[in-house]
Amino acid sequence: MNILYDERVDGALPRVDKAALLAELRERLPSLDILHREEDLKPYECDGLSAYRTTPMLVVLPERIEQVEALLKLCHRRQVPVVARGAGTGLSGGALPLEQGILLVMARFNKILEVNPEGRFARVQPGVRNLAISQAAAPFGLYYAPDPSSQIACSIGGNVAENAGGVHCLKYGLTVHNLLKVEILSVEGERLTLGSDALDSPGFDLLALFSGSEGMLGIVTEVTVKLLPKPQMAKVLLASFDSVEKAGRAVGEIIAAGVIPGGLEMMDNLAIRAAEDFIHAGYPVEAEAILLCELNGVEADVHDDCERVRRVLEQAGATEVRQARDEAERARFWAGRKNAFPAVGRLSPDYYCMDGTIPRRELPGVLRGIAELSAEYGLRVANVFHAGDGNMHPLILFDANRPGELERAEALGGKILELCVAVGGSITGEHGVGREKINQMCAQFDADELTLFHAVKAAFDPERLLNPGKNIPTLHRCAEFGAMHVHHGRLPFPELERF
Ligand SMILES: Cc1cc2nc3c(=O)[nH]c(=O)nc-3n(C[C@H](O)[C@H](O)[C@H](O)COP(=O)(O)OP(=O)(O)OC[C@H]3O[C@@H](n4cnc5c(N)ncnc54)[C@H](O)[C@@H]3O)c2cc1C
Repeated sequence: MNILYDERVDGALPRVDKAALLAELRERLPSLDILHREEDLKPYECDGLSAYRTTPMLVVLPERIEQVEALLKLCHRRQVPVVARGAGTGLSGGALPLEQGILLVMARFNKILEVNPEGRFARVQPGVRNLAISQAAAPFGLYYAPDPSSQIACSIGGNVAENAGGVHCLKYGLTVHNLLKVEILSVEGERLTLGSDALDSPGFDLLALFSGSEGMLGIVTEVTVKLLPKPQMAKVLLASFDSVEKAGRAVGEIIAAGVIPGGLEMMDNLAIRAAEDFIHAGYPVEAEAILLCELNGVEADVHDDCERVRRVLEQAGATEVRQARDEAERARFWAGRKNAFPAVGRLSPDYYCMDGTIPRRELPGVLRGIAELSAEYGLRVANVFHAGDGNMHPLILFDANRPGELERAEALGGKILELCVAVGGSITGEHGVGREKINQMCAQFDADELTLFHAVKAAFDPERLLNPGKNIPTLHRCAEFGAMHVHHGRLPFPELERF
């Protein structure tokens, strides 16, 4: 396998004869909805990362698995690349289409097939919205724990492909920890089952490997998720701080005190003001930072934990600690947080959302570093993030109409991610690598590790037809980017030209 240079990833894709492909699709799959006119294709040119846009060659909207199966077989035979798309809320360009490829939209697979309270699982189609699973499980006192802030819109297929996280993942784990089984179609259109209905299955854990694989290993056609009983009680504390660093330090101290909150989120002043203006959550707009800490479980434990966390917060320098008085106030506190991204969107024509993860103890230093970088690049940064997981979401505010601002925002984002890597963190917490962070993968992984990733990809998809050009950089790209990870002082592939 030649991974030094990959034309599917780094260069022009082999040309596809659009007219011939369209004719064959119509002949073999007459019931399949196919979009092919420019004006119909435009709405699909980007996902949530709208700075990157490509008009797809064709968009298909299947409704039956047999159609997806036949489509994949046909594309494989004709060597046509396929990019899967769920709800298109991804923030790293994972569902960014290809000019020379088909965009396979899975949104019409939106049926909940089974909610099983005895087995505490739900079997759903991939286009089902994340929140719809908890809504369907609610009559049984159950819910699906991973709750991305986009849960009202994003699909479970997209969640599996991105290994999505959310406010409650600190306590209950990411998507991968809440899956039992996924049905997939391989690049050749073969049906495969990963995982099982039992808690464990023998052999390699392909289900874990598949989670977060960003549509590069197969197409999700059905998902079986674990359901949890709704906690008896949930209380939220809102703590205000006069510095982001103090708030950052308090996060580690809460966990060190032996409490695992249901959610532990942080917002800085810019984010607080934006959310308050938008949602009227009752946030203290003068605070430099707030922490929202949810304690949940059985009644006696929740009361004890609230008292313990209140003491920790006060010792950590909180200027005020408020407990939501009732369910309505608790919902308001969370509504502010969950709507913080669109709220920040009102402050500036554009924003760029980063997604790095760091060890919790590094929060104060990294927040300081972000403030310094923000001043250096002359762009405002709002911080609103899953603090308990150390999963940062700096939102870089810019105006794409001002020449050079997008490039400056991208450069600042890259620096922030490198800062995360430098303190032992990672370039993504939950939004995936997609197209956006492919260069930073070169800083995170060395040549041997990237070679292994390519080998895994090749085991599932040797011709690299599924979502090519995303997630795993070629070594050639890393050399070009000038950020190849140098291991023990040895520069890998010294024969490659550096730019
Ligand atoms: C306001 C906002 C807040 C957000 N908050 C969070 C958050 O708190 N936590 C979080 O994790 N993310 C968050 N996100 C990001 C995004 O919602 C998640 O990444 C989500 O999992 C994407 O789901 P989707 O259905 O929109 O997938 P898409 O964006 O359509 O696709 C995402 C990736 O999944 C692949 N894919 C989609 N469907 C399939 C399938 N059936 N089979 C194989 N591959 C598939 C695509 O190829 C692509 O690589 C947020 C986004 C927004 C806009």
